[in-house]
Amino acid sequence: MGNTRAELEGRLAQKGYRLTRPREAILELLRATSAHPQADWIYEQVRKQLPHISLGTVYRTLHVLAEAGCIQELRFGSGQAHYDGNVQMHYHLICTRCGAWEDLDMPLARELEQVAAQRSGYRITGHRLEFYGLCRRCQS
Ligand code: ZN
Ligand code: MN
Repeated sequence: MGNTRAELEGRLAQKGYRLTRPREAILELLRATSAHPQADWIYEQVRKQLPHISLGTVYRTLHVLAEAGCIQELRFGSGQAHYDGNVQMHYHLICTRCGAWEDLDMPLARELEQVAAQRSGYRITGHRLEFYGLCRRCQS
């Protein structure tokens, strides 16, 4: 996905949304972190720029940005959503003890899509892969 303001506005416009100050601020925040944060962390951070923003607005903004394909909403099991400003396909590691989400630097296994297509007859358009276990900190 392109990162320019015009491309962002285009993406939102396709879903009937405008680029507002909260939408732009939250997107910038998510693109600047690799922590895959949850809504409450995003709320605390964005308040530094927009002191009058409500938690409800943050939730709605995250929903709009995800719907327009500007961010990814990630969930593991029944846990709260984590948000990722990187919408390119990539894999994640999840710590089952502390709940951390991290990017996994690993080539995409596109051959899995061919196997799945052959076995199912689906026209596969993508896949997600999450590895879970204990992070380095939680092992020690
Ligand atoms: Zn951990
Ligand atoms: Mn990620």
